[in-house]
Amino acid sequence: AKKAVLGPLVGAVDQGTSSTRFLVFNSKTAELLSHHQVEIKQEFPREGWVEQDPKEILQSVYECIEKTCEKLGQLNIDISNIKAIGVSNQRETTVVWDKLTGEPLYNAVVWLDLRTQSTVESLSKRIPGNNNFVKSKTGLPLSTYFSAVKLRWLLDNVRKVQKAVEEDRALFGTIDSWLIWSLTGGVSGGVHCTDVTNASRTMLFNIHSLEWDKELCEFFGIPMKILPNVRSSSEIYGLMKAGALEGVPISGCLGDQSAALVGQMCFQDGQAKNTYGTGCFLLCNTGRKCVFSEHGLLTTVAYKLGRDKPVYYALEGSVAIAGAVIRWLRDNLGIIKSSEEIEKLAKEVGTSYGCYFVPAFSGLYAPYWEPSARGIICGLTQFTNKCHIAFAALEAVCFQTREILDAMNRDCGIPLSHLQVDGGMTNNKILMQLQADILYIPVVKPSMPETTALGAAMAAGAAEGVGVWSLEPEDLSAVTMERFEPQINAEESEIRYSTWKKAVMKSMGWVT
Ligand code: ADP
Repeated sequence: AKKAVLGPLVGAVDQGTSSTRFLVFNSKTAELLSHHQVEIKQEFPREGWVEQDPKEILQSVYECIEKTCEKLGQLNIDISNIKAIGVSNQRETTVVWDKLTGEPLYNAVVWLDLRTQSTVESLSKRIPGNNNFVKSKTGLPLSTYFSAVKLRWLLDNVRKVQKAVEEDRALFGTIDSWLIWSLTGGVSGGVHCTDVTNASRTMLFNIHSLEWDKELCEFFGIPMKILPNVRSSSEIYGLMKAGALEGVPISGCLGDQSAALVGQMCFQDGQAKNTYGTGCFLLCNTGRKCVFSEHGLLTTVAYKLGRDKPVYYALEGSVAIAGAVIRWLRDNLGIIKSSEEIEKLAKEVGTSYGCYFVPAFSGLYAPYWEPSARGIICGLTQFTNKCHIAFAALEAVCFQTREILDAMNRDCGIPLSHLQVDGGMTNNKILMQLQADILYIPVVKPSMPETTALGAAMAAGAAEGVGVWSLEPEDLSAVTMERFEPQINAEESEIRYSTWKKAVMKSMGWVT
């Protein structure tokens, strides 16, 4: 059969906490042509610990690329049209590997992992000068969430890591660095780099000077020689060294939340998006200004789309557990067999019947930053059944979003008129309607929900030397939106929200 003629195509790796995907877009229309997805295992070797296998992650990327290319072949699309690849990834998750063997020296310590709680406590007693030392440089609170403390733990506890550092064989990276190094050749010439958005989540990166910060590295005891080079989010880092796409440049790199901001075209000051994946992350573009929150939000690098392009910043509200609570109901309680099934259960009852579920499995992130919190399900009666708990789990995601939206509105001064959403959970229509009801503003979802991958593809396609994607908003005119309008009254919404807050108070202080 004759192969279809198309404009230039761009691929994107979306390496998330739950799964890896590879997607291919048409750079002229932003249309998604084909994709493949593989779920990633999570290991919980001890209470509070969360690990993944870096090699399984890498393998899943190769598998997704190969399968997607096969599917394109079946559609008669020539893969030689793929001109660039972007990488977007789960942020903060920490890998150390041996540059001579290419072997990881320990599992990846996942962002949700809590093993560093005591490390954080002892570090926080030693903060030099005022308490603002870390926050003023990085925009982040000292927390188990960010890479520096995970890396500190690896240096303190894993002999193989210590030895490799001593022998000058260790490389550190977040998942983007691990993937780009491996995909560009690994032991034979792999490029050891990261982008400004991923670097800004390590707690070692100065978000004003856009460089690794010597004082921070000294404070955390991190040898600077193991850190990757920090590049912009859109430039050619290197070429694919193997597989169906050998020779194609990797030219985009963004942490998943930044990628979604770009994919949702939130390029203007004040534009925001909320992504519902394993966790939930609301980012608001604050333009070229670094805005510091008074209400528990993070300041982070939004993107820098080219070596000579300006850096943009964002305020971020991070919620640790969103889709993860659904996965927990599936894997730990077994009340559903697939994540999609939650919708059926919730629909059966249409209410939580006074049941509230605070999924503070990893403490609470924004706006509380309370490591002592643990999950609770409360308000139970004889009448409560699994459907009510399912409903309460969905409501919990919406209430947590409401808390960060409130904080965002207070910090920004201008309340958001609607919320742009994306991520795996947004396929759930009940969740979307609940969210509109609880926020009391419309929730707007693009019909193509893979905005994280789209953002990485845009960055890759727009890079100097590639130049197949222009970042003008009219390029996305084909994108249609689905809207969810608030349906309950504001008063009812407020009552539910204030009961939720009572439940949150009860979740705190479980661990001392
Ligand atoms: P990540 O980027 O963190 O890997 P995704 O955006 O792929 O996450 O979303 C996956 C998460 O969404 C999983 O935790 C899963 O349990 C949840 N999820 C997927 N589909 C649904 C659904 N229909 N209803 C509720 N949750 C869902």
